[in-house]
Amino acid sequence: MIVESGMWKTSLKRELSCAIEMNRDLSRVSTLGVGGRGEFFAEPSELEDVCALFRLRRDAGFPLWILGGGTNVVFTDGELEGVILSTRRMTARRWIESDDDAVLEAEAGYLLSLIVKESSGEGFSGAEFALGIPGTVGGAVAGNAGAGGRSIGELLDEVTTVENDGSLKRWKRGEFDYAYRYFSPAAPDRLIASCKLRFKRAPRADIDRAIAEFRRVRSIQPQGKRSAGCAFKNPPGDSAGRLLDFCGCKGLRVGGAEVSEAHANFILNVDRALGDDIFELMELCRDIVFQKAGVRLEPEIKLVGFRRKFSSLPNP
Ligand SMILES: Cc1cc2nc3c(=O)[nH]c(=O)nc-3n(C[C@H](O)[C@H](O)[C@H](O)COP(=O)(O)OP(=O)(O)OC[C@H]3O[C@@H](n4cnc5c(N)ncnc54)[C@H](O)[C@@H]3O)c2cc1C
Repeated sequence: MIVESGMWKTSLKRELSCAIEMNRDLSRVSTLGVGGRGEFFAEPSELEDVCALFRLRRDAGFPLWILGGGTNVVFTDGELEGVILSTRRMTARRWIESDDDAVLEAEAGYLLSLIVKESSGEGFSGAEFALGIPGTVGGAVAGNAGAGGRSIGELLDEVTTVENDGSLKRWKRGEFDYAYRYFSPAAPDRLIASCKLRFKRAPRADIDRAIAEFRRVRSIQPQGKRSAGCAFKNPPGDSAGRLLDFCGCKGLRVGGAEVSEAHANFILNVDRALGDDIFELMELCRDIVFQKAGVRLEPEIKLVGFRRKFSSLPNP
């Protein structure tokens, strides 16, 4: 099917079986709670709808934004044109257990917190590091989420993606790379549809010890506040939080956005912040760290739909 540009809006409802909302308030689908309106918001539960949407986008060329749990994004305050595809209803999952290990096959929208609970509860080790990381497994794989030197990439056996043309592609271990906040297949025009994660059986005491350790790590992060996790990636060999603290960024404020006093790499929405407040506070922090410590910080949070770029700094 070839869709002329401009006609795609009428084709959307015809081609997709899922509900499509117009003018969706994006501040309600992100943990930071900022952002304007999304032109179209689709929440498919069937993979076929996702593939159909990708085919439509290939033919008509409208912007397509992928959203998981919204725990690592800042939306622009204006209208986000095109379609936001939320994976939150893609939640099928299946455990296959053997004596020594277990494989979880999960669709993109399955929550990481449930994976931690289910695997550790059944005596399988591997996901303890993800304790307290909110969001979906698809979002975690796309950004290789992790903590304490561990990451979800270590658990991945296989990933299935929806490609630009709506076809499915299977990536087996060895066919993808991962590193700190990096997963090689991740791309704006590719959706992680499902994955297989492998866990090892372990003694109860070992799992409990690991869970307690990661709970302790979490306790130094701001509790019960609106954030999108760490604002900046750690530069090689250092911690962005340490640098931001050292450079005096804690407590800095732009509009309703504030750098947490508890953890300098967390930017909080403390008083009806705008997306622009978050963006400007991130620029301010980045500039201060560059001036005082000579280190360029790169955003970890995804800045979605902003007209201006989070520009690179000049060479020192
Ligand atoms: C309190 C708090 C603590 C956090 N702690 C950590 C931590 O310790 N470690 C860590 O790594 N992160 C942490 N985060 C950040 C965040 O939770 C993780 O990055 C999470 O894995 C993002 O998943 P999500 O489903 O919410 O993705 P979203 O925020 O919805 O999306 C993030 C990015 O991934 C893309 N994406 C989402 N789903 C898919 C998909 N199915 N296919 C392709 N692309 C996709 C989106 O397009 C976007 O670019 C924290 C966040 C909060 C709020």
